[in-house]
Amino acid sequence: MSENFIDHVYINKLLEEAKNAGDDLIKNALDKAQNGETLLHNEVAALLLTKNSSHIARIFEIAGKIKKRIYGNRIVMFAPLYVSDFCVNRCAYCSFNHGNDTKRSRLGMDEVREEVKILEMMGHKRLAIEAGENDSECPIDYILECIKTIYDMKFENGEIRRVNVNIAATTIENYRKLKEAGIGTYILFQETYHEPTYNSVHHAGPKKDYAWHLTAMDRAQEGGIDDVGGGVLFGLADPYFDTMGLLLHNEHLEKKYNVGFHTISVPRLCPAEGMNISDFPNLVDDDTFAKIVAVIRLAVPFTGMILSTRESHDMRKKLLQLGISQLSAGSSTEVGGYGKRKRKEKTNPQFFVNDERSATSIITELMDDGFIPSFCTACYRGGRTGDRFMSLAKSGQIGNVCLPNALMTLCEYAMDYGDDLFREKTKAVIEKEIAHIANETIRKKTIENVEKIRRGDGRDFFV
Ligand code: SAM
Ligand code: SF4
Repeated sequence: MSENFIDHVYINKLLEEAKNAGDDLIKNALDKAQNGETLLHNEVAALLLTKNSSHIARIFEIAGKIKKRIYGNRIVMFAPLYVSDFCVNRCAYCSFNHGNDTKRSRLGMDEVREEVKILEMMGHKRLAIEAGENDSECPIDYILECIKTIYDMKFENGEIRRVNVNIAATTIENYRKLKEAGIGTYILFQETYHEPTYNSVHHAGPKKDYAWHLTAMDRAQEGGIDDVGGGVLFGLADPYFDTMGLLLHNEHLEKKYNVGFHTISVPRLCPAEGMNISDFPNLVDDDTFAKIVAVIRLAVPFTGMILSTRESHDMRKKLLQLGISQLSAGSSTEVGGYGKRKRKEKTNPQFFVNDERSATSIITELMDDGFIPSFCTACYRGGRTGDRFMSLAKSGQIGNVCLPNALMTLCEYAMDYGDDLFREKTKAVIEKEIAHIANETIRKKTIENVEKIRRGDGRDFFV
């Protein structure tokens, strides 16, 4: 196998042995997770494979507790921005597949501004640029221009404060350029860690090279990007194999660069134009998926977990309780999709999403369910990336930093985009939550800043 940090023989052995894991091993693993101890590989594998309903109930309970302890009620909001669907790769699952005979497009800078304006009107402060891979139609300079265009935009209600980037695996030199452009997280999904499956679903193009794709995060680190986000596309290969692969990849980055994934995404295969989802034999059912999300939460408690609108309203509600800390809202998965939606034009998405609710209704429901939608980008703005963010998370100071930031950005959101009812709701939530800021100085300052935001006397505060 190409990369020994994804040792297929080792993962298969772990999964094989996990089938016979005894009750004691699983109970001990659950106790360790509950106490915040690091789990061993065989323990994670045993938790993944258990079918025992009382063990699964306990996995869910502990995942919920860890989530609450580390992240509180905060849910960070974001949206994708598709800029180009030209692609030289032939990924069997994607409608941007080079073999699909569709009309392709790339946004001009005026179109980027038009899309971003719509996203800003939804209240978003954090975007993820998405693009197919095509060096002539969508070279790195074009992506850099998009990033600059977005960061240069100023609105009455502030600006997009963090641009994450989800583009194809590239060179150290290009990663360096992305770093210099001030990106937030570089996101790349391995799709599957299982090399034979990887080879069978990537039919042509540079992405076909498993090792090139797998080592992208190493090159990103070499290029100075210490904030990277991984993920697998659940539905391609054995989901347990892929979850172990994801965790081993994270460990490899931790060992080599002193910092693992900042976030882990858990995309699940959706129907798309040009593919038939029933051709994929490893689709993951809802119960298995929920168990996997919860086990990831137990295995890497300090890594943010991202859920997209690929999941249904009901699944999103459920998974929020099990470890998800970032949620997209109001998303379009196509180039120029936000403008097209507004103009009610026919669409051509990368795949069909499940949660089609507006950002406002998602954010309102989060509040009604006791969550704090957060538009915070403070770590990025304060240079607290990579291992500096992890030290903050592990020091237990998140409550004194992320909570005030979440409350101040929620207050801004309510004043900028909310109606009277939403503002009233926000006021009640903020008053209740401010009491949980342990540090008295920070608590007082937050109260002061929230008042300033309400009066229109200031904004953009962060700890
Ligand atoms: N083109 C780059 C790449 O493939 O790495 C950038 C990311 S692509 C725009 C975003 C992601 O969409 C892919 O990594 C893939 O996991 C996901 N995707 C593609 N087709 C999908 C489908 N049918 N259902 C769900 N996710 C899909
Ligand atoms: Fe291109 Fe990415 Fe789609 Fe593959 S997943 S066809 S690389 S856009």
